[in-house]
Amino acid sequence: MHLRGDEEGEEGPLDHRVEAVEPYVDSARAAGVDEICFTEHVYYFRQTRPLWEVPYQIERCVYDIEPYVDAVLEAKRRGLPVKLGLEVDYARGREEESRVLLEPYPWDYLLGSIHFIEGLGVDGEPRLIDTVGVDAAWQRYFDELAAAAGSGLFDSLSHPDLVKVYGRRPDRELEKELHEQAAVAIAASGVAVEVSTAGLRKPVGELYPDPHFLEVCRQRGVPVTVASDAHGPSLVGRDFDLARALLRSAGYDTITLFERRQARQVPLDG
Ligand SMILES: [Zn+2]
Repeated sequence: MHLRGDEEGEEGPLDHRVEAVEPYVDSARAAGVDEICFTEHVYYFRQTRPLWEVPYQIERCVYDIEPYVDAVLEAKRRGLPVKLGLEVDYARGREEESRVLLEPYPWDYLLGSIHFIEGLGVDGEPRLIDTVGVDAAWQRYFDELAAAAGSGLFDSLSHPDLVKVYGRRPDRELEKELHEQAAVAIAASGVAVEVSTAGLRKPVGELYPDPHFLEVCRQRGVPVTVASDAHGPSLVGRDFDLARALLRSAGYDTITLFERRQARQVPLDG
């Protein structure tokens, strides 16, 4: 989730103060969620500026990371059930630099994301899918996902089949083949995948990931995390009943919680 002001719409302005944490906790309690993790986008923080080449990221890369980290740590000290995380765009070829930039902070977990590939947007402009076509976009996305998994930088992969965001997909055979290749690489890496309800609010109108992708992940023993990807308090825990149903249908009976990057499994209905 992303720490924002309390606004009615989908996305409030950044609000990295401990006071902004409380509405998320209230909303989580109301949704029956007993622990939440903030995973602000890494590209908002000027400390990570050397990693970015895309205007979308560079324009946003102006905030100090310390108030964000301090707000979440202070909320923890006050006894609120929150964790400190970050949603980290995978910068291929810059793994060691990424690791060094992230190292100073006491993360509970780090999400790995792919929003851009060589300057083209998976879910933003200029669109990868319009530039290279559907099949190539999907192939390049899943290749990047496998590399992100193998980088050792991340604990879980957010919205793992984000490339479907616009509802444009290759034929089902190719899609399944890409799911299987990715599941093999992810299983070998030991990283988890995220089941996210955010896709329901996007043009594709589906959970991330696809049921087939999740099923092949489960068959290979890949653990899962669960997310609403809330960009405001009102979305915390949104549609978790559907996430739980998807997890059950793929054969999962536990989800993963992280503390200081140590994973443990808890029962899905616990
Ligand atoms: Zn994301």
